[in-house]
Amino acid sequence: MEIHWGQKAQAYVTPLSNDETCVALISRDPRMRLEEAWREFPKLANYLRHAEPSSTERGAVTVTRRLRQVYRGNFALAGDASGSVDAVTGEGLCLSFRQAIALADSLEKGELQSYQLAHRRLARRPDTVGRLLLLLDRYPSLRRRALRGLAEDPQLFARLLAAHLGGASPKFLAATSLRLGWQFLTS
Ligand SMILES: Cc1cc2nc3c(=O)[nH]c(=O)nc-3n(C[C@H](O)[C@H](O)[C@H](O)COP(=O)(O)OP(=O)(O)OC[C@H]3O[C@@H](n4cnc5c(N)ncnc54)[C@H](O)[C@@H]3O)c2cc1C
Repeated sequence: MEIHWGQKAQAYVTPLSNDETCVALISRDPRMRLEEAWREFPKLANYLRHAEPSSTERGAVTVTRRLRQVYRGNFALAGDASGSVDAVTGEGLCLSFRQAIALADSLEKGELQSYQLAHRRLARRPDTVGRLLLLLDRYPSLRRRALRGLAEDPQLFARLLAAHLGGASPKFLAATSLRLGWQFLTS
Protein backbone atom coordinates (compact mmCIF):
# COMPACT_ATOMS: atom_id res chain seq x y z
CA MET A 1 0.00 0.00 0.00
CA GLU A 2 1.18 3.54 -0.73
CA ILE A 3 0.01 6.74 0.94
CA HIS A 4 0.83 10.06 -0.70
CA TRP A 5 0.29 13.12 1.49
CA GLY A 6 -0.07 16.41 -0.39
CA GLN A 7 -0.93 19.94 0.70
CA LYS A 8 -4.69 19.50 0.47
CA ALA A 9 -5.25 15.75 0.22
CA GLN A 10 -4.05 12.23 0.87
CA ALA A 11 -4.08 9.59 -1.89
CA TYR A 12 -4.21 5.88 -0.95
CA VAL A 13 -3.07 3.31 -3.48
CA THR A 14 -3.91 -0.35 -2.87
CA PRO A 15 -3.63 -3.37 -5.19
CA LEU A 16 -6.92 -5.08 -6.04
CA SER A 17 -5.70 -7.68 -8.54
CA ASN A 18 -2.83 -8.16 -11.01
CA ASP A 19 -4.28 -5.58 -13.37
CA GLU A 20 -6.37 -3.39 -11.12
CA THR A 21 -5.38 -0.81 -8.52
CA CYS A 22 -7.59 1.19 -6.18
CA VAL A 23 -6.82 4.89 -5.78
CA ALA A 24 -8.74 6.70 -3.04
CA LEU A 25 -8.50 10.37 -2.23
CA ILE A 26 -9.26 12.05 1.10
CA SER A 27 -9.40 15.82 1.35
CA ARG A 28 -10.69 18.58 3.62
CA ASP A 29 -11.95 20.30 0.48
CA PRO A 30 -15.33 18.77 -0.48
CA ARG A 31 -14.98 20.13 -4.03
CA MET A 32 -11.68 18.43 -4.73
CA ARG A 33 -11.83 15.78 -7.46
CA LEU A 34 -9.20 13.31 -8.72
CA GLU A 35 -8.58 15.44 -11.81
CA GLU A 36 -7.39 18.35 -9.67
CA ALA A 37 -5.62 16.12 -7.13
CA TRP A 38 -3.14 14.83 -9.72
CA ARG A 39 -1.37 18.18 -9.52
CA GLU A 40 -0.66 17.47 -5.84
CA PHE A 41 0.76 14.03 -6.65
CA PRO A 42 2.92 14.30 -9.79
CA LYS A 43 4.79 11.07 -9.02
CA LEU A 44 1.58 9.10 -8.64
CA ALA A 45 0.06 10.78 -11.71
CA ASN A 46 3.11 9.67 -13.67
CA TYR A 47 2.70 6.01 -12.56
CA LEU A 48 -0.91 6.05 -13.60
CA ARG A 49 -0.64 8.02 -16.83
CA HIS A 50 -1.48 4.97 -19.00
CA ALA A 51 -4.07 3.50 -16.62
CA GLU A 52 -7.70 3.32 -17.63
CA PRO A 53 -10.45 3.92 -15.06
CA SER A 54 -12.37 0.69 -14.34
CA SER A 55 -15.15 2.46 -12.43
CA THR A 56 -16.63 5.93 -12.08
CA GLU A 57 -15.38 8.36 -9.45
CA ARG A 58 -17.49 8.13 -6.29
CA GLY A 59 -17.39 10.11 -3.08
CA ALA A 60 -18.58 10.04 0.52
CA VAL A 61 -18.44 12.25 3.58
CA THR A 62 -16.20 11.20 6.44
CA VAL A 63 -16.69 12.55 9.96
CA THR A 64 -15.75 11.84 13.55
CA ARG A 65 -18.92 11.23 15.53
CA ARG A 66 -19.40 10.12 19.10
CA LEU A 67 -22.80 9.16 20.50
CA ARG A 68 -23.58 9.45 24.20
CA GLN A 69 -25.35 6.11 24.17
CA VAL A 70 -25.16 3.21 21.72
CA TYR A 71 -28.05 1.14 23.09
CA ARG A 72 -31.51 1.59 24.47
CA GLY A 73 -33.75 -1.18 25.74
CA ASN A 74 -33.05 -4.14 23.52
CA PHE A 75 -31.72 -2.07 20.58
CA ALA A 76 -27.97 -1.66 20.03
CA LEU A 77 -26.04 0.25 17.38
CA ALA A 78 -22.79 -0.98 15.80
CA GLY A 79 -20.52 0.23 12.99
CA ASP A 80 -20.78 3.78 11.66
CA ALA A 81 -24.36 4.04 12.96
CA SER A 82 -22.89 3.94 16.49
CA GLY A 83 -20.42 6.79 15.80
CA SER A 84 -17.45 6.92 13.48
CA VAL A 85 -13.78 7.80 13.25
CA ASP A 86 -12.33 9.89 10.43
CA ALA A 87 -11.42 7.84 7.33
CA VAL A 88 -7.84 9.12 7.67
CA THR A 89 -7.38 6.48 10.43
CA GLY A 90 -8.23 3.59 8.05
CA GLU A 91 -9.95 2.04 11.08
CA GLY A 92 -13.69 2.08 10.32
CA LEU A 93 -14.12 -1.60 9.48
CA CYS A 94 -11.71 -2.88 12.13
CA LEU A 95 -13.57 -0.90 14.78
CA SER A 96 -16.93 -2.26 13.55
CA PHE A 97 -15.69 -5.86 13.84
CA ARG A 98 -14.36 -5.23 17.36
CA GLN A 99 -17.70 -3.69 18.32
CA ALA A 100 -19.50 -6.74 16.91
CA ILE A 101 -17.41 -9.07 19.12
CA ALA A 102 -18.07 -6.85 22.18
CA LEU A 103 -21.79 -6.79 21.37
CA ALA A 104 -21.89 -10.59 21.07
CA ASP A 105 -20.22 -10.89 24.50
CA SER A 106 -22.79 -8.52 26.02
CA LEU A 107 -25.69 -10.39 24.42
CA GLU A 108 -24.34 -13.59 25.88
CA LYS A 109 -24.33 -11.97 29.34
CA GLY A 110 -27.87 -10.73 28.72
CA GLU A 111 -27.10 -7.02 29.34
CA LEU A 112 -25.98 -4.18 27.07
CA GLN A 113 -24.30 -1.83 29.58
CA SER A 114 -21.01 -3.73 29.16
CA TYR A 115 -21.29 -3.14 25.39
CA GLN A 116 -21.58 0.59 26.04
CA LEU A 117 -18.38 0.52 28.14
CA ALA A 118 -16.49 -1.65 25.62
CA HIS A 119 -17.66 0.60 22.77
CA ARG A 120 -16.27 3.68 24.52
CA ARG A 121 -12.97 1.93 25.26
CA LEU A 122 -12.61 0.69 21.66
CA ALA A 123 -13.17 4.20 20.26
CA ARG A 124 -10.45 5.83 22.38
CA ARG A 125 -7.31 4.81 20.43
CA PRO A 126 -8.59 5.41 16.87
CA ASP A 127 -10.08 8.68 18.08
CA THR A 128 -6.69 9.86 19.41
CA VAL A 129 -4.85 8.69 16.28
CA GLY A 130 -7.46 10.43 14.10
CA ARG A 131 -7.01 13.73 15.96
CA LEU A 132 -3.24 13.45 15.66
CA LEU A 133 -3.36 12.76 11.91
CA LEU A 134 -5.84 15.59 11.30
CA LEU A 135 -3.53 17.91 13.25
CA LEU A 136 -0.62 16.91 11.00
CA ASP A 137 -2.87 17.47 7.98
CA ARG A 138 -3.78 20.98 9.16
CA TYR A 139 -0.19 22.10 9.83
CA PRO A 140 2.23 21.30 6.97
CA SER A 141 5.36 22.29 8.92
CA LEU A 142 4.37 19.95 11.77
CA ARG A 143 3.71 17.21 9.21
CA ARG A 144 7.07 17.65 7.50
CA ARG A 145 8.85 17.49 10.84
CA ALA A 146 6.92 14.38 11.95
CA LEU A 147 7.51 12.56 8.64
CA ARG A 148 11.20 13.49 8.66
CA GLY A 149 11.48 12.11 12.20
CA LEU A 150 9.78 8.85 11.23
CA ALA A 151 11.94 8.49 8.11
CA GLU A 152 15.05 8.85 10.28
CA ASP A 153 13.81 6.24 12.74
CA PRO A 154 11.89 3.49 10.86
CA GLN A 155 11.72 1.42 14.05
CA LEU A 156 9.75 4.20 15.68
CA PHE A 157 7.32 4.10 12.76
CA ALA A 158 6.94 0.32 13.26
CA ARG A 159 6.29 0.87 16.99
CA LEU A 160 3.66 3.52 16.25
CA LEU A 161 1.94 1.15 13.82
CA ALA A 162 1.95 -1.59 16.46
CA ALA A 163 0.43 0.86 18.97
CA HIS A 164 -2.16 1.93 16.39
CA LEU A 165 -3.16 -1.71 15.86
CA GLY A 166 -3.86 -1.97 19.57
CA GLY A 167 -1.34 -4.64 20.56
CA ALA A 168 0.75 -2.37 22.81
CA SER A 169 1.18 -2.42 26.60
CA PRO A 170 1.11 0.88 28.59
CA LYS A 171 4.91 0.56 29.06
CA PHE A 172 5.43 0.15 25.31
CA LEU A 173 3.16 3.15 24.65
CA ALA A 174 5.03 5.33 27.17
CA ALA A 175 8.44 4.36 25.70
CA THR A 176 7.17 4.99 22.14
CA SER A 177 5.72 8.39 23.11
CA LEU A 178 9.04 9.41 24.67
CA ARG A 179 10.94 8.29 21.59
CA LEU A 180 8.46 10.14 19.35
CA GLY A 181 8.81 13.32 21.41
CA TRP A 182 12.61 13.13 21.27
CA GLN A 183 12.61 12.47 17.52
CA PHE A 184 10.19 15.35 17.01
CA LEU A 185 12.40 17.77 18.95
CA THR A 186 15.62 16.74 17.25
CA SER A 187 14.56 16.20 13.59
C1 LIG B 1 -13.64 8.00 2.02
C2 LIG B 1 -13.66 6.90 3.06
C3 LIG B 1 -12.56 6.06 3.19
C4 LIG B 1 -12.56 5.05 4.14
N1 LIG B 1 -11.47 4.25 4.26
C5 LIG B 1 -11.48 3.24 5.12
C6 LIG B 1 -10.37 2.33 5.20
O1 LIG B 1 -9.38 2.49 4.52
N2 LIG B 1 -10.45 1.32 6.09
C7 LIG B 1 -11.56 1.13 6.87
O2 LIG B 1 -11.59 0.17 7.64
N3 LIG B 1 -12.62 1.96 6.82
C8 LIG B 1 -12.61 3.00 5.96
N4 LIG B 1 -13.69 3.84 5.89
C9 LIG B 1 -14.80 3.65 6.84
C10 LIG B 1 -15.71 2.50 6.43
O3 LIG B 1 -16.16 2.70 5.11
C11 LIG B 1 -16.92 2.47 7.39
O4 LIG B 1 -16.45 2.48 8.71
C12 LIG B 1 -17.75 1.23 7.14
O5 LIG B 1 -18.22 1.23 5.82
C13 LIG B 1 -18.91 1.21 8.12
O6 LIG B 1 -19.72 0.11 7.81
P1 LIG B 1 -21.22 0.11 8.26
O7 LIG B 1 -21.78 -1.20 7.80
O8 LIG B 1 -21.33 0.43 9.72
O9 LIG B 1 -21.94 1.33 7.54
P2 LIG B 1 -22.11 1.57 5.98
O10 LIG B 1 -21.00 0.95 5.19
O11 LIG B 1 -22.39 3.04 5.84
O12 LIG B 1 -23.41 0.73 5.63
C14 LIG B 1 -24.70 1.20 5.98
C15 LIG B 1 -25.65 0.71 4.87
O13 LIG B 1 -27.00 0.99 5.28
C16 LIG B 1 -27.70 1.54 4.18
N5 LIG B 1 -28.83 2.31 4.71
C17 LIG B 1 -28.79 3.54 5.27
N6 LIG B 1 -30.02 3.91 5.64
C18 LIG B 1 -30.85 2.91 5.33
C19 LIG B 1 -32.25 2.69 5.46
N7 LIG B 1 -33.05 3.60 6.03
N8 LIG B 1 -32.76 1.55 5.01
C20 LIG B 1 -31.97 0.58 4.45
N9 LIG B 1 -30.63 0.73 4.28
C21 LIG B 1 -30.08 1.88 4.73
C22 LIG B 1 -26.67 2.37 3.44
O14 LIG B 1 -27.04 2.57 2.10
C23 LIG B 1 -25.43 1.47 3.55
O15 LIG B 1 -25.34 0.53 2.52
C24 LIG B 1 -13.71 4.88 4.97
C25 LIG B 1 -14.81 5.72 4.84
C26 LIG B 1 -14.80 6.74 3.90
C27 LIG B 1 -16.00 7.63 3.77
